[in-house]
Amino acid sequence: MPLEIVRNDITKMKVDAIVNAANESLLGGGGVDGAIHRAAGSGLLAECRTLGGCKTGKAKITGGYNLPAKYVIHTVGPIYNDGKHGEKVLLESCYRESLALAKEYQCETVAFPLISSGVYGYPKDQALKVAIDVISDFLLENEMMVYIVIFDKAAYKISEKLFSDIAEYIDDNYVDEHTNYSRERIRMNALPPMAPRTRRKKTDDDFLEMCDCRAMLAEDDLDAKLKQIDESFSQMLLRKIDEKGMTDAECYKKANIDRKLFSKIRSDVHYKPSKPTALAFAISLELSLAETEDMLRKAGFALSHSNKFDIIIEYFISKGNYNIFEINEALFAFDQSLLGA
Ligand code: ADP
Repeated sequence: MPLEIVRNDITKMKVDAIVNAANESLLGGGGVDGAIHRAAGSGLLAECRTLGGCKTGKAKITGGYNLPAKYVIHTVGPIYNDGKHGEKVLLESCYRESLALAKEYQCETVAFPLISSGVYGYPKDQALKVAIDVISDFLLENEMMVYIVIFDKAAYKISEKLFSDIAEYIDDNYVDEHTNYSRERIRMNALPPMAPRTRRKKTDDDFLEMCDCRAMLAEDDLDAKLKQIDESFSQMLLRKIDEKGMTDAECYKKANIDRKLFSKIRSDVHYKPSKPTALAFAISLELSLAETEDMLRKAGFALSHSNKFDIIIEYFISKGNYNIFEINEALFAFDQSLLGA
């Protein structure tokens, strides 16, 4: 999965490069900077001394020394004032410059902390949004596995409005799998009786209308519909990509799926993806809820109201929000597995 949010200590990440939220001196500091220097050992500080500092919004690279990572990319985030002093542009630049350096050094895997969101005071939800926006833009053009590393759960926040909207949606829709049926029955009995349905006699007009409809469903159309019933997941995916006028790469990138997995699905007509992978494609293709259910069925799954993960996905589809990275932010906030490979 090209962008993943993980909870970890960044100094433990086994990646090609970790990014350090440094200060302009590059001579170490508190927070994540201190942790990286402690774990890397004195060789890192010695190399940093040769770099002559770094401007806010820029990035410089060193070796990883005793860290599991081969490189450390040091970037200097802005100190947050009130959001009106160019903080966002500078923070975006930190991510862009760090990714450019990672690319130049042929890194395939990179891990970022939430830059500026600690001592520098950038509101965490906004800092996370900047990170996700810049990284996902970069991944549209580049092949890389990027991690956003969240140190502690408290450090992680999506916008409160989104969080409470989703929580409310879960509350309204969640059905406990172990429904107490006798209680359910009592509740049903307490409901007012339903009004009897009035039945209208069919008129000639109704009949003509029905015939028209049938005629419209041309034979070809019927053939195509019958073929779709037997279609596998892989076939449906490729058909939908064509119908939406997307390229394969557009689709798997938007789905946060890596190229290798996509090729596997493409070449194996009977490939059975995991549920998060199937859903990632449904989101990428911007399928309606009914189409999403259809696609899931091909992979042997269904959406259920006894599952928070499913309800959150349903929430986003019902809102017409198909941004997989925002969906993953929300899934992460609710401790659910993420979409993608
Ligand atoms: P800044 O000065 O840029 O705000 P900080 O180091 O104070 O940098 O904080 C940046 C982010 O890094 C914060 O969200 C903090 O929780 C997180 N952080 C601190 N230590 C670690 C660590 N070992 N691994 C990953 N993230 C960390």
